[in-house]
Amino acid sequence: MTTLEVTDLTVDYRRRGQRPFRAVDRVSFTLRAGRTLALVGQSGSGKSTVVRALSRLVRPTSGSIRLDGRNRTSGRDYRRAVQMVFQDPFASLNPAHDIAHHLRRPLLATGRANGGRDAEEKIAALLRSVNLTPEADIARKRPHELSGGQRQRVAIARALAPEPRVLLADEPVSMLDVSIRLEILGLLDRLRTERELAVLYVTHDLATARHFADEVMVMYRGEIVERGPSDEVILRPKHEYTRRLAAAAPRSGRTAS
Ligand code: ADP
Ligand code: MG
Repeated sequence: MTTLEVTDLTVDYRRRGQRPFRAVDRVSFTLRAGRTLALVGQSGSGKSTVVRALSRLVRPTSGSIRLDGRNRTSGRDYRRAVQMVFQDPFASLNPAHDIAHHLRRPLLATGRANGGRDAEEKIAALLRSVNLTPEADIARKRPHELSGGQRQRVAIARALAPEPRVLLADEPVSMLDVSIRLEILGLLDRLRTERELAVLYVTHDLATARHFADEVMVMYRGEIVERGPSDEVILRPKHEYTRRLAAAAPRSGRTAS
């Protein structure tokens, strides 16, 4: 069973002429196959820095990241196994290329498809798995011809192309229309079940964290201040900061923040 085990992860940002700034301070958690862990906290608390460290976009200052017990995060295996979905699907897609191109690249780069027909069939299958149909029409479109929700579905399909085992979703719906947020979260939830994915769901929305995650961690100024089963943390918060987050949150996940 896949696990991504993070121990005492610490990330300092070096800023010119200033002391290093500790954005993430000794954070530990485990992502398990088929489970969703939510990382919640207000803007600036360090959530994206955790994701960047796990996706190797920033180098941890200290701490360890182990995938199935191995701490080699620099190799191809790790890169394939750990995929990301970001907040802004438009920024993460190339306007010059059609949707097929966005999916073909990771399929070929990771050896999940051979060229030609095989790749085209796998592109169609990926589009179907995120409910983008008719596949042939969608494949030919450019990102600007799709809605925000459709673009995020493409970004999810692209993350699935390498057949990852861990999915890091950094505020995956916060830029989308309120009316389609739950649909996209529902899609991620279905994919988690079907593919036994270990999911890290980063959000500032406690309501959806409670609904979609088994466990919740609350981050404040780089540290995890509270964690536990979702219901417990959100309905009976122990930490003052969690209480404030809960009080500030809209009562329903459907409301814009
Ligand atoms: P969140 O995702 O919770 O909003 P981030 O991880 O993006 O938080 O940022 C955490 C803190 O680190 C913030 O104070 C932010 O200003 C700072 N920070 C983020 N990226 C950099 C960077 N490249 N250089 C310096 N400071 C940064
Ligand atoms: Mg962020």
